[in-house]
Amino acid sequence: MTVQWQEQVSLKPYNTFGIDVKARYFSQAQDDQQVRQALSQAHQQGLPVLVIGGGSNLLLTRDIDALVLHMASRGRRVLSDDGERIVVEAEAGEPWHPFVQWTLAQGYCGLENLSLIPGTVGAAPMQNVGAYGVEIKDVFAGLTALDRETGELREFGLADCAFGYRDSVFKRNPGRWLILRVRFALSHSLQAHLDYGPVRQRLTEQGATEPTAQAISDAICSIRREKLPDPAELGNAGSFFKNPVVSAAQVERIRAHYPGVVAYPQAEGQVKLAAGWLIEQAGWKGRREGDAGVHRLQSLVLVNYGQASGAQMHALAQRIQADILERFGVELEMEPNLY
Ligand code: FAD
Ligand code: NAP
Repeated sequence: MTVQWQEQVSLKPYNTFGIDVKARYFSQAQDDQQVRQALSQAHQQGLPVLVIGGGSNLLLTRDIDALVLHMASRGRRVLSDDGERIVVEAEAGEPWHPFVQWTLAQGYCGLENLSLIPGTVGAAPMQNVGAYGVEIKDVFAGLTALDRETGELREFGLADCAFGYRDSVFKRNPGRWLILRVRFALSHSLQAHLDYGPVRQRLTEQGATEPTAQAISDAICSIRREKLPDPAELGNAGSFFKNPVVSAAQVERIRAHYPGVVAYPQAEGQVKLAAGWLIEQAGWKGRREGDAGVHRLQSLVLVNYGQASGAQMHALAQRIQADILERFGVELEMEPNLY
C-alpha cells in the first residue's frame, strides 16, 4: 500500500502561530500502519520527516524541505480500574483538551489543572506539559513510541522519559522517537492543586469551597480565556520562553535593583524567575514590530498579528533575549521548537 502525499502544502492551518510556509510533502497518519508506511516511503526517497500534532509549539522559519507527517490517530480507552486508580490510554493524534474533558466526564481526576492546553496527546510528553503546578509526569503511566532509527516499538516508563521542567528525553533527541500512544494514571478521588496563581481565589469567588475536578478545570479555563490569546484569533504558541532557573545569589543581585522581582524557590537552592515579569520590566509588554509583537496582557506570549514570517517572530525573540541578558544577566531559552 502506498500512502498518498500532497505536494507544496501551506502549513498555515497546521501551526498556531499561523506562519505561512510550505511543506514539500504533506501526509496524515491515522494509525500505526500509516505511520510506518510514511516513514518507510520517506526513507526510500532519502527525505527527512517532520512529525507534527496540533502545531501549537512550533516556530516555522522557512519552507520545510521534508515530509511533514501530521498525527491524526484517534482513540482513547480505559486499560484498568481497581476502584481507586484508573489507567487510561489515548492515541497520539487525540486533541489534548477534549481528551482531558473526556476523563473529567468519566469522573477521573488528575488532568484538571492541564485544561485548555492546545495540541495533541502525543506531543504532551515532548516538553512534559505543565500548568498551574501540575505536569504530565505527575500522572504519567507509560507510553509507546516507535524508534525511528530501528523501526522497533519501545515502551517508556516514567524513569525512561527523563522528564524535567518543559523537558524530556524526547525533546533532547529530536526526531528519534515517534510517540504513538500515551497512558495516564488517574484517580477516582481528587487531590486538588489550587495554590498556583489565581486558581483558589477564582474558585472562592464562585463559592466553590470544596471544588470538584470539573470545577477546577472550569476555573482554569476561565482564567486562561481571560489572559491568553486564542490562537484561532491571534497567532501564538503560548509561552515563548521558559522561566529561567538561576542561583539565589543572582536573584539577590537582581533584587538590589528591582525589589519586586518575581521568584519561586526550587530544589537545591535554585530559584525560578518569572520570565514574563522580566520582559514586562524591560518594557516589551504590548510592543509591536510590524506584525510580530508581545501580547498586551501576557508578555511571555509572542503574537503574530497576521502576516509576520517565522523569521520576523524569531528576530523579535532574539532582540528580547539580548535585552534581558544585558539588563538582568539572565539567559532566556526559547520554548517552542524551531524549524
Ligand atoms: P506540535 O507543536 O505539533 O509539536 C511540538 C513538538 O513535538 C515538535 O518538535 C514535533 O515534532 C513533536 N511531536 C509532535 N507530535 C509528536 C509525536 N506524536 N511523537 C513525537 N514527536 C512529536 N504548553 C504547556 O506545557 N503548558 C501550557 O499551559 C501551555 N499552554 C499553551 C497555550 C497556548 C495558547 C498555546 C498556543 C500553547 C500552549 N502550550 C502549553 C504549548 C503547546 O500547546 C504544548 O506544548 C503542546 O503539548 C504541543 O502539542 P502539539 O500537538 O501542538 O505539538
Ligand atoms: P502566572 O499565573 O501569571 O504566573 C507567572 C509565572 O509564575 C508562571 O510562569 C509560573 O511558572 C510561575 N508561578 C506562579 N505561581 C507559582 C507558584 N505557586 N509556584 C511556582 N511558580 C509559580 O502564569 P500564566 O502565564 O498565567 O500561566 C499559568 C500557568 O499556565 C503556568 O503554570 C504556565 O506555565 C502555564 N502556561 C504555559 C504556557 C506554555 O506555552 N508553556 C502557556 C500558557 C500558560 P510555571 O510556568 O513554571 O508554571
